[in-house]
Amino acid sequence: MNNKKKKVAIIGAGISGLVCAYELNKQGYEVELFEARDRIGGRIHTLRSCFDHNLYAEAGAMAISDRDKYVHRYVEEFNLPLASRLPLHQSLSFYLDQQIIPIDAMPQNCPYPLNPQEQSWEMYNFWIKVLRPLLATISPEDLKELTSEKCIEYDKMSFRELLHKLDLSPGAIKLMQTSLLHLIGGSFDELSALSIMIYALKSTHSKQSFTIIGGNDQLCKHLAKPLQNHIHLNSPVTHIDQTSKQIVLTTAHQQYTADHLILSVPLPLLNQITFTPTLSQEKQTAIAEIPYTTISRHFIQYEKHPEEKINMVIADDPHAWLEDHTFHQQSTRGILEVHTSGKSAKHYQQLSPEKRKKHTLSKLKPIYPKLETLYEKERFICWDDEPYSRGAYCYYKPGQITDHLPHIKKPEGKLHFCGEHTSLYFASINGAIESAHRVLEEITNPSKPII
Ligand SMILES: Cc1cc2nc3c(=O)[nH]c(=O)nc-3n(C[C@H](O)[C@H](O)[C@H](O)COP(=O)(O)OP(=O)(O)OC[C@H]3O[C@@H](n4cnc5c(N)ncnc54)[C@H](O)[C@@H]3O)c2cc1C
Repeated sequence: MNNKKKKVAIIGAGISGLVCAYELNKQGYEVELFEARDRIGGRIHTLRSCFDHNLYAEAGAMAISDRDKYVHRYVEEFNLPLASRLPLHQSLSFYLDQQIIPIDAMPQNCPYPLNPQEQSWEMYNFWIKVLRPLLATISPEDLKELTSEKCIEYDKMSFRELLHKLDLSPGAIKLMQTSLLHLIGGSFDELSALSIMIYALKSTHSKQSFTIIGGNDQLCKHLAKPLQNHIHLNSPVTHIDQTSKQIVLTTAHQQYTADHLILSVPLPLLNQITFTPTLSQEKQTAIAEIPYTTISRHFIQYEKHPEEKINMVIADDPHAWLEDHTFHQQSTRGILEVHTSGKSAKHYQQLSPEKRKKHTLSKLKPIYPKLETLYEKERFICWDDEPYSRGAYCYYKPGQITDHLPHIKKPEGKLHFCGEHTSLYFASINGAIESAHRVLEEITNPSKPII
C-alpha cells in the first residue's frame, strides 16, 4: 500500500488526536487535524497568562504516574524534563471534622469511627490497598474482553454494594468517600464497582508521579510540531457524511474528503455532530447515557510566607483536594488549587466570582490561616462550562462498562473512535494515548482483529 495516497482526517487535537496525527504522519499518510478551539491540547491545558512571575498551573491533567507507559514513551522521545510530585506519604494531611491531621497521625486520630482492623490501616493510598484482594480476582485477560463473569458481576454492582460486601464500617466508607470522590465525582451508589477497581488497578503498583517541567502542554506542542500546516484551529466539525468510497467532513469554513476519519472528541460533543448515515443504535445509546464528572478548579495565587506551609490536603469541608501547583517552580509566589468534583464543584460553579472568592478563603482559613492576607489573584475553571469538553472525564454507572465500552470504541465503516472515553483506563492521558494506538492499528493493520 502506498500510504502517501491515504488521506486521514482527525477531529480533535487533544492528546489522542495528536498522537494519531503524529504517528500517521510519520508513516507517510496525508493527515489533516480539525480542532474546534483556538488551541491544541484539549484537556491538557496549562494556564500561564492569568498568573504573574512566569508561574503556571494545570487546569486539566496534572499527574503522570510511573506506570503510564504510553505517556513515558513520548516524554522520552521528546526528552521532556519531569518534576517528581511530592510522595503522598510525606506531604499529605487530612482536614476532617474541622481538624487537621497529618497522614502519619492517621487513622489513629481519624474523627470518623473505625473498627479495630481499620485502625491499623496505613493511610497512603489506603483505598487501593483495601481493594487489592479483589483486584487480584480480575485478570488482564478478563479486562481485555470484558465478557468474563467476574467483570460483569463487578460492573453490575455499585461501588457501595461492593464496600458492603467488604464489611467496612460506616466511618471507613466515609473516609473513602472523602478521599476518592473529589477525583471521580458522583456518589458511590451511582458508580460501577468495576470502574473504581479499574481506577485502582491503574494506580496499584505506582510508586511515584510526575508533572512536566514547563507545563504538561509541552507534550502536545512537541506532537504538533511536525504537523504545523495541517492543524486547523477554530474549526468545529459539524457534519460527517460517509459513503462506501469516502468520507466528507464539514466545518464552518470548509469541506474535506478523506479515506479514513478519526473521532477523538468527548462523548457529549460527538452528540452534536450530524452523521450520515447515523451511528449505530448501540453507540447512540452509549453517547446518550454515559455521564461526565463535573470538576471545578479554583486557583489562588498567593505570596509565599515562611509560616504558611501549603501542603496537599484532603478535606471534607470544603469537600476538596488542596494542592500547590508550583512546588517545583522557583518563585516568591505560589498557586494553590482547590479541586472539587460533583455537587461541590457545581456549588462553586454557580457562585458569582466575588462570592466564590469569599467562600473559598473563608473555608480555607482554618487550614491555611494566613492565606487571606497572602492572596493576590485567582482563576476559576469548571470543565462543564468548557463548550468543547462538557465535563472533565467520563465515569461509569453500574452496568455501563460491559454494556457500552465495546460499542463506544468500535469502528463504523471508515470512522474510528479514540479518546479517554474509549479506553478502559478512562480519565487518564495514558488511556487516551493507548486508545490512539488501538486506532492506529485499525487503520494501518486492518486485518488484525479488534479487541
Ligand atoms: C480536571 C482534570 C484533571 C485531570 N487530571 C488528570 C491527571 O492528573 N492525570 C491524567 O493522566 N489525566 C488526567 N485527566 C484526564 C486527561 O486530561 C484526559 O483523559 C485526556 O487529556 C483526554 O484526551 P482526549 O484526546 O481523549 O480528549 P480531549 O483532550 O478532550 O481532546 C478532544 C479535542 O476535541 C476537540 N473537539 C471537540 N469537539 C470538536 C468538534 N466538533 N470538532 C473539532 N474538534 C472538537 C476539543 O476541543 C479537544 O481539543 C484530567 C482531566 C481533567 C479535565
